[in-house]
Amino acid sequence: MKILISDAFDPSLPQRLKAFGDVTDDTSQLPEADVVLVRSKTKCTKEYIERAPNLKLIIRGGVGLDNVDLEYATSKGIEVRNTPEASSVAVAELAFALMLAVSNRIVEAHNSMVTGEWAKKQMKRSELMGKTLGLIGVGRIGTVVANRARAFGMYVIGYDCYVEYSDLVELKSLDEVLASSDYISLHVPLCLDTEGMINKETIAKMKDGVIIINTGRGKCVVEDDLAAALESGKVRAYATDVWYSDPPAEDCPLLKAPNVIMTPHIGASTKENLLRIGDQIVEILKEHQQKQGA
Ligand code: NAD
Repeated sequence: MKILISDAFDPSLPQRLKAFGDVTDDTSQLPEADVVLVRSKTKCTKEYIERAPNLKLIIRGGVGLDNVDLEYATSKGIEVRNTPEASSVAVAELAFALMLAVSNRIVEAHNSMVTGEWAKKQMKRSELMGKTLGLIGVGRIGTVVANRARAFGMYVIGYDCYVEYSDLVELKSLDEVLASSDYISLHVPLCLDTEGMINKETIAKMKDGVIIINTGRGKCVVEDDLAAALESGKVRAYATDVWYSDPPAEDCPLLKAPNVIMTPHIGASTKENLLRIGDQIVEILKEHQQKQGA
């Protein structure tokens, strides 16, 4: 079995996978690959899959499957798996770090020190305690964020079109979440319903001075609408890990908008998570091997 490791995983992974076959990270060997391991960089489009006639299994190390043409892969009898449980803590901790960075003005304070300014008087921070956090998407990551937020004394509400009950989150309609939240954190997958869901109409329903955190998917927001709302102050800050493309286009309006905190899609990139993803990949390959032998 030829296993192509197409994106960056934990450095221990090639050694761990040797028990299953020939392991390579040479992407020119795609035509011979039986299994391809990807994260978010490699796009498993129809054209990509067509170049791999032996392919039987695509493993996406991570949650979303929006970089895999699922329909085409399935039509070719290729199994597509991901590692959805591994990343929840890593992403939730980043969402929380972004929320804390905004409320504590960490980036502005740091930058002022770098430029030799002593901005002690100007740097008024704000606290999370007593604030309302609105989660859009109350799945695995949203729930881990809710757990941390409650420990900080936040009131946690959320909207999820499929989840009907949560121990940690008071579920509400989307409009109620938009209208009552001081912080809105996005944790939905990218799909037809969620693409562009943060736009001028939904922003207009939010509290003035709302803070939006996005560790879900960049395309869930309409960048021009959000940039205009940041300019006007309607949205006080946008902290994001996710973009329309990795990296964002040079003319992405959010790169120049005020009060934006940005990270380069590192939500899942903790060393602990990469090890957990490796553990799940080993389990998936064991199952695959058993099925092939059966
Ligand atoms: P999950 O499937 O456990 O949770 C997603 C939730 O969204 C589900 O409860 C689902 O019911 C809900 N949902 C789906 N469509 C909706 C809609 N139209 N309106 C409201 N709710 C809707 O997934 P998860 O593990 O919590 O991950 C959430 C997302 O986080 C992923 O899909 C991915 O886009 C993103 N993610 C980002 C990173 C990163 O590096 N920043 C890493 C992992 C995951």
